[in-house]
Amino acid sequence: MKRWLQKLGEKMQAWMYGRYGYDELSQFLSIVALACIFISMFVPLLNPIALILLIWSMFRGFSRNLEKRQKEREVYLKYTGKVKQSFKRRKNMWRERKTHRYFKCPGCRRWLRVPKGKGQIEITCPVCKGKITRKT
Ligand SMILES: [Zn+2]
Repeated sequence: MKRWLQKLGEKMQAWMYGRYGYDELSQFLSIVALACIFISMFVPLLNPIALILLIWSMFRGFSRNLEKRQKEREVYLKYTGKVKQSFKRRKNMWRERKTHRYFKCPGCRRWLRVPKGKGQIEITCPVCKGKITRKT
């Protein structure tokens, strides 16, 4: 039995050689597919969507076109990175709400953090050097 399992493992390894495998995007697709399966207990329309997502995830894993899969992954990471960054910033804003205030620079849309309780101050953006006057 152990020998048989070992042989199976070797065969799987040989079969997966040169194929893309599992990455963050595949993981995300699988999770969304599982969520769809769960929700489809109440909304039957989501079952085909779950199937499509699972097939897509498997297709990516078994794909031999590594370059294309890596590009898909980069696009995925680029967008999720923005979302993650936004959540992180909100979390920081909440944690520092008693000591700091945040303002968005009207010139470059970048967030500026200033200490709270300093009255009316002029804030200079470190990126575009634009100035704004705000009460802190
Ligand atoms: Zn700026």
